[in-house]
Amino acid sequence: MATKTDTTTPLVDHGAGVIHVNRPADGSLIEDVALHDTAHLAERAARLREAQVEWESIGVQGRTMWLRRYKKWIFDNTDRLIEISRQEGGRVPNEPLLEVTLLMEVIEHWAKHAPSLLAPRHIRGANATALGKRYTVHRHAYPLVGVIGGWNFPMLLTIGDAVPALFAGSAALVKPSEITPLAVRELVRGWRIEVGAPPVLDILLGGGDLGAALVDETDFVQFTGSVATGKRVAVRAAAALTPYSLELGGKDPCLVLDGANLERAANCAVYGGFANNGQLCMGFERIYVQDSVYDEFVERVVAKVHALRSGTDDDSDLGALTFPPQVETIDSQVRDALAKGARALTGGRPIDRPGNWYEPTVLVDVDHTMTVMREETFGPVLSIVRVADADEAVRLANDSDFGLSASVFAGSTREGERIAERIDAGAVTVNGFLTNMVCGDVPQAGWKDSGSGGRNGDIGLLKFTRTKVVASSWIPNPDNDPNWFPYSPTRRAVFRAATRLLHGRGLGRLGL
Ligand code: NDP
Repeated sequence: MATKTDTTTPLVDHGAGVIHVNRPADGSLIEDVALHDTAHLAERAARLREAQVEWESIGVQGRTMWLRRYKKWIFDNTDRLIEISRQEGGRVPNEPLLEVTLLMEVIEHWAKHAPSLLAPRHIRGANATALGKRYTVHRHAYPLVGVIGGWNFPMLLTIGDAVPALFAGSAALVKPSEITPLAVRELVRGWRIEVGAPPVLDILLGGGDLGAALVDETDFVQFTGSVATGKRVAVRAAAALTPYSLELGGKDPCLVLDGANLERAANCAVYGGFANNGQLCMGFERIYVQDSVYDEFVERVVAKVHALRSGTDDDSDLGALTFPPQVETIDSQVRDALAKGARALTGGRPIDRPGNWYEPTVLVDVDHTMTVMREETFGPVLSIVRVADADEAVRLANDSDFGLSASVFAGSTREGERIAERIDAGAVTVNGFLTNMVCGDVPQAGWKDSGSGGRNGDIGLLKFTRTKVVASSWIPNPDNDPNWFPYSPTRRAVFRAATRLLHGRGLGRLGL
């Protein structure tokens, strides 16, 4: 029978050796998934390392062929993947549809760009000491990449990050969140069984303890999750000098300034604040609105939020909250704000029905003393602040430990771009939302507590590789180079004269 989810029951049940995967929409059990342990981890890591050697040797063209076949399989199975993600994530179908689409885009992006990025680069040294030398920069994959992802976009944050690693020539071991392992498990099954691709992608099913152990087994760690866990991963990786990339939380601001298209800004604020039920690292959580347009903007936003439908129907806008404890996290932030003088113009409390639900909430009269303005909320709550001018909006937007992304709505694109320059974030969209994320060509890298490293752009692939420089000569080599042994006053004088000529100024070049 559907019941309110019991947040005290651990989802990872070590005693029974299973993960209880529940439907957030009503708390009912979907499936008990067999739990992996550190022996599975060691065994899978060893098998992946073995298979990776052949995978790297088939070259980027061969890997692209397999990944394109995989893309076709994903395309053919889109509806099933959406349904699985919908059940385990409590999401409305549009959200996993976007996720699966982006996953296919990720594959297509790297299919186009990986060959040129991974090609050896020949460099003729520009500095004088490299005269006559030729350098070739090769890219070699880290053999085993560990990918640890969160539960809000489980497919994209695990398989989507494994894809560039696979293009680079790595094997990937993914650990989805214990809350949402099913769609990722299906994607791994698709790769291994249905596509029959080389066994360089595998999955680990378990909780945070297994994620922590994975860090020790891999050569590169790709992590998406909270700041607190990201810092733990960084410390553990640093102990073994394992490189990592961290995609962490956000508290993204949206600035709405005089002259902005208020209808577009309001539509965007509502979408940016409530898409995926607010469980979006780059979702809007803070809106700063210039005094002159504040009343009209708030009125439009409130009307649009009133029209949002929470539920499990195909045409609902908001689903359930995926992670059961999130209901209490969100509610405690809202209660704190209301106790300190904020007003809820819509919502403001959990929805009383089985499962994990919260009313779409718009808060006004908020300030930066409230946790809802400082900590990640990760739920359907939009907090709106009245500001005097653009300077105050920028100052408050930057008054945060996070710096993932932001948006600016201004009277003109040029003005929006000028303001974007002043915002401390890895990406700023002018008159829109998440425009950067849908373009694989541009880097996405959080500032401050929002991350370290980044995905997309050239770095999104090259981070999974190490460079190897092969240095040779394009002119015949003499028997002995001038700076080699034996050292002598004559050789030193010649070398000194050459140094003066190269780096001296005026008469100094002649030693005067
Ligand atoms: P968590 O940090 O709780 O968990 C992320 C992953 O890490 C899960 O798979 C988790 O496993 C695992 N994990 C937990 N403890 C450890 C550990 N000690 N060592 C290694 N792995 C561990 O994040 P959430 O799942 O709650 O995800 C939501 C967060 O992700 C939000 O803060 C959101 O902003 C952020 N995020 C960032 C994005 C970005 O691109 N910057 C994109 C999307 C989300 P388990 O769940 O089984 O405990």
